[in-house]
Amino acid sequence: KLHNTILELKGNIRVFCRVRPHLPDDNSSNHGKVFSYPTLPECLGRNIDMTQNGQKHSFIFDKVFTPDASQDEVFIEISQLVQSALDGYKVCIFAYGQTGSGKTYTMMGNPGQLDEKGLIPRSLEQIFQTTQALQRQGWRYEMQVSMLEIYNETIRDLISINWDSSRTENGVAGKQYMIKHDANGNTQVSDLTIVDVRSSKEVSFLLDRAAHSRSVGKTQMNEQSSRSHFVFTMRITGVNEQSTEQQVQGVLNLIDLAGSERLSKSGSTGDRLKETQAINKSLSSLADVIFALAKKEDHVPFRNSKLTYLLQPCLGGDSKTLMFVNLSPEPYSAGESLCSLRFAARVN
Ligand code: ADP
Ligand code: MG
Repeated sequence: KLHNTILELKGNIRVFCRVRPHLPDDNSSNHGKVFSYPTLPECLGRNIDMTQNGQKHSFIFDKVFTPDASQDEVFIEISQLVQSALDGYKVCIFAYGQTGSGKTYTMMGNPGQLDEKGLIPRSLEQIFQTTQALQRQGWRYEMQVSMLEIYNETIRDLISINWDSSRTENGVAGKQYMIKHDANGNTQVSDLTIVDVRSSKEVSFLLDRAAHSRSVGKTQMNEQSSRSHFVFTMRITGVNEQSTEQQVQGVLNLIDLAGSERLSKSGSTGDRLKETQAINKSLSSLADVIFALAKKEDHVPFRNSKLTYLLQPCLGGDSKTLMFVNLSPEPYSAGESLCSLRFAARVN
């Protein structure tokens, strides 16, 4: 039976698919061929076929990146969205997929390799280069950054990290991190640190610290980094000094989602069970929201999870959303890969 799922999200929502290459440490007996990329002329670069247990499943995305796609090639498809944030739009870019499928590689890249930088550092470079160039035309820009993690429906600040013993499981003792939306359509999270930044170097420094904080959490809290959503937010405000009426306010949100893997049948009890249920709930809430928006439904269930409530002003309306579906190429990941593909195609 041939599943022919066509993904046709209209408006400001796009879904890209990216399959990572086989890794040197993958067991080579697992290098079987799961994905193929038909080159139908009418949708070149947008098809992916998956074969599992002799069954073929076909999917179409706005763009499919094969394992040989470089970070450069991926960013070329993104840079217009980054420009939109500079032009005053609210933009969200998500990476969705099971742990090990390449979400963090897509977002942050390989820290040791300059040409393997991911789309967060590349976006920052584009933003700071463009705003500098625009200074000559009288534009003054201010950039503000915040970084947080949502773990078990609890927000943790990744910039202001209290390393002493007052740190609790939920972050720094006494901090509330209540989400509010103001009249201008901006999100405010109480107690969350917001930093003014002037260069991509400054942001890189904050990103490194945030990554370090997440990896500390990893040993202390059961590999938290793959069990939590990472949300990087940059607010961009531009004023033209030659005509003060010209003002733009854009937001760029870059989100490395928690691993989408389902519960393994055995060994999921207690905290781990609760954790997985929280992840499943927030990922399915995200899908509900995106697909309600794509179908232009009247009711969009933003309040069903912290993540969607946090991002509410940046989803829908004239904001722009891009979801990467990251896939692992090994046959033993095929079950999870099919789930990810179906997640993305749910609107059909
Ligand atoms: P995730 O964040 O989804 O858990 P990672 O981004 O950490 O997955 O990727 C898992 C491993 O695969 C890492 O070692 C990463 O460097 C490597 N990897 C992922 N995508 C690619 C790619 N496109 N090219 C080369 N290596 C990749
Ligand atoms: Mg990761």
